[in-house]
Amino acid sequence: MDFYVDVPIWVGYNKYKSCIQNAMGYNMSSDRKNVITKKAYAKVNLGLDVIRRRADGYHEVKMIMQTVDLCDVLTLTRQEKPGIVVTTDREDLPGDEGNLAYQAARLVMETCSIEEGVKIELQKRIPMAAGMAGGSTDAAAVFHGMNEMFELGMSEDEMCALGVKIGADIPYCIRGGTALAEGIGEILTKLPDAPDCIVLIAKPDIDVSTKYVYENLHAEKLDCHPDIDGMRAAIEAGDLRGVAERMGNVLETVTVNAYPVIGEIKEAMKKRGAWNALMSGSGPTVFGIFEEEEKARAAYADIIGANLAGQVYICGWAGRDRKKS
Ligand code: ATP
Repeated sequence: MDFYVDVPIWVGYNKYKSCIQNAMGYNMSSDRKNVITKKAYAKVNLGLDVIRRRADGYHEVKMIMQTVDLCDVLTLTRQEKPGIVVTTDREDLPGDEGNLAYQAARLVMETCSIEEGVKIELQKRIPMAAGMAGGSTDAAAVFHGMNEMFELGMSEDEMCALGVKIGADIPYCIRGGTALAEGIGEILTKLPDAPDCIVLIAKPDIDVSTKYVYENLHAEKLDCHPDIDGMRAAIEAGDLRGVAERMGNVLETVTVNAYPVIGEIKEAMKKRGAWNALMSGSGPTVFGIFEEEEKARAAYADIIGANLAGQVYICGWAGRDRKKS
């Protein structure tokens, strides 16, 4: 069932209006939330296929998305003074409109005519420019947080309709869990949670531009495509081995030659018993799936020891319910 629907957002607006009107032009109810903390989970692509390049330059994709329990933490605080303040614990991350969390807050403020302000403190844990949708998931957390804080009553469909205006991955990040993503990534079909396993994530110390990867991809010349339909069936059957066997990402055709360390990390994981290892999104992060934590720990030590990656994490999947916490 598709769960992305392009619905108007005035429902949320009206609820907000009535909420402020009911209380002398301001919501003074004692149970209103002034501080909200949200976890924003990263994603990996269990499968990523590019179908074609569209005339408008966007790529039509077919992907299996999966949230992992590696997350940023956002604390939203209501401010009486209008405006948006974003602070981060990373010097290289902007606190102005260059930050997707800021853009999400501004879009909600404008759409719902919110007259107060919000401060957003972002603790960055997800590797940046890594193919893990770090910015998009922060934006998604802001949609959820502001919806709650200002009692906007927006449904997930409504938040997705807003989110796609900022980025194609944002609707998925609003939903979380396991999903098939089509179109430019915004047409989503919910899937059952992927079978449990240990996930090893390694981000090498290189920056890979998403733009560079897509510009150098020859979508029409690809002779090998991942079996996304087969992967979907394996997930529905709870078959981890079937999922592992079908992991594939056509963007590796660009990155693995350009950045050999990506291939080296994949090999290091497989050598220690990963059922499979793959680059996520446009990279350079690699994730491997393991049945046993001991083997993942051995691969972790090898990767750190050989200096293949500076940011390495052992995690698991984050299901849809967890995403909402
Ligand atoms: P995707 O998987 O969606 O391609 P990514 O993981 O490759 O995303 P991000 O971590 O989202 O990439 O960062 C890409 C760029 O976006 C960064 O260079 C950064 O300057 C900018 N950016 C804006 N807001 C954020 C944010 N909240 N967190 C991380 N990066 C952000």
